[in-house]
Formats: sequence, C-alpha cells, structure tokens
Amino acid sequence: MTIQKSEAIVLKTWSFRETSLIVNLFTKDFGKIGGLIKGIRQAPQRYGGLPLVFSRSSIVFYERPKRDLNLVTQCDAGEQFLPIRRDLEKTNYANYFLELLDAVTFDYDKNEGLFELTVDSLKALCLEQESWRIARIFEIRLLNLSGFKPRLDSCVNCQRRITAEGRFSSILGGILCPRCFACDSRAKATLRGTLASIDYIEKSSWQKALHLKIAPDIASELVTILTSFLDIHLDKRIKSRKFLI
Ligand SMILES: [Zn+2]
Repeated sequence: MTIQKSEAIVLKTWSFRETSLIVNLFTKDFGKIGGLIKGIRQAPQRYGGLPLVFSRSSIVFYERPKRDLNLVTQCDAGEQFLPIRRDLEKTNYANYFLELLDAVTFDYDKNEGLFELTVDSLKALCLEQESWRIARIFEIRLLNLSGFKPRLDSCVNCQRRITAEGRFSSILGGILCPRCFACDSRAKATLRGTLASIDYIEKSSWQKALHLKIAPDIASELVTILTSFLDIHLDKRIKSRKFLI
C-alpha cells in the first residue's frame, strides 16, 4: 500500500458499521476517490472531527489498488465554509456545485482546475449575496474544464462563422446558423448578450467574471440554456437543482 496525501473537498459521507465512515472525496492531486475512515465515529477527535460535506480538508490515505475504497488515516478540516452552513440558500447552491462536480468526473481523473473552481465558488458563496451569479459562473467554467464546452463561436453543424442571429441547440451542443436551423427544430433563438456573457465568463479572470453585469433577460436565458445543455450532456438529472431559487 502506498501512502499519499492531498487537499480534498468532501463530496459525500456515509456511516459504515458502528464506528466507521465512508467518504467520497474530490482531491487536488488524484481527482475523485473513495475512502474508508476506520473508527472515526467512535473517536472523531483523533481525526480532527467528523468530515463535513463541502469542507476542504488535508487528507492522508493508503492507496489500495485492488479495493474500491482507500484507507484514509487523516482528514483534517482546513476550511469549513461556515457562512454557507448558516444559510439554507447557500447550502443548497453548495450541494448543487458538488453534485455537478461529481457528475462530470471519474475516479482518479485528476483535474486541478475543477478543484480550484470549486474552492473559489465555495469561497465566493461565503461572501457574495447573489448565489445565482456564482452558479452560472460555476456551470460555464465546469463545462469548459471537463470537456463539455458548448460550441458558440461558429455553427455546430456547418462550422461557418455566425453572422446573423443563431439558435442554441442543446442536443447538438452549440449554436446553429440560419442555414442549419432545420437540424434541430427545438433549438432556441438566443440573445447575443447571452452568448457574449458565456464567452466572457469562460475567458476572463475569476474576479472579472464575478463582476460581470448580467441583465435579467440574459440571466434567465442562461438558466434555460445551461440547464437543458447540462441535462442532455450529463445524461442525468441533477436532483439538487430543484432547491435553487
Ligand atoms: Zn450552419
């Protein structure tokens, strides 16, 4: 067994037998892993307390290549994101971020960008009043970092540059030019400001993205487009979304 250490975000926890805990973690250095923490429910102080969902912890674990679960021997909570835990709306958004992160990742598929995005988003939730804004930034950047990015700079069917009003096709994964509207009758007319906002959020710094002014009609169109795109390309419904405002 090889001993490893990493920073990790706690995605889920389950009780195991009388005294132990199973944890699903998204680590900075190894991607998503499963772990067993033996005896922690009997003596949580030995581990620095019980690991809480969406806390950021420093973990030490023994890799067990032939077993589903690694043996976690240390799980020190570094950041608990307390302002989120005191606010139901923020808690719902944090749970949504973790469910999306879990849905786009596979075990042992390291993605430091996704780790940093999640930490930045949880930190921003602690400070920012507008949780919906952080959610749109999280969704757009998560799609980018996990290889699900929609095609917006040219027609997803014929690859021509979009010069007139395009329509967004969730099924085809991007914008259709007027010549290709027939490829998807359910593609939706999309405001230019919506596409420009997605492009800006993808390319700008975290701070600049947080301060982007988003008009109400664009905010509402972003929800429609991103929800339908995520549902189709993740091939599953994200259950925690129904608790968002
Ligand atoms: Zn086209």
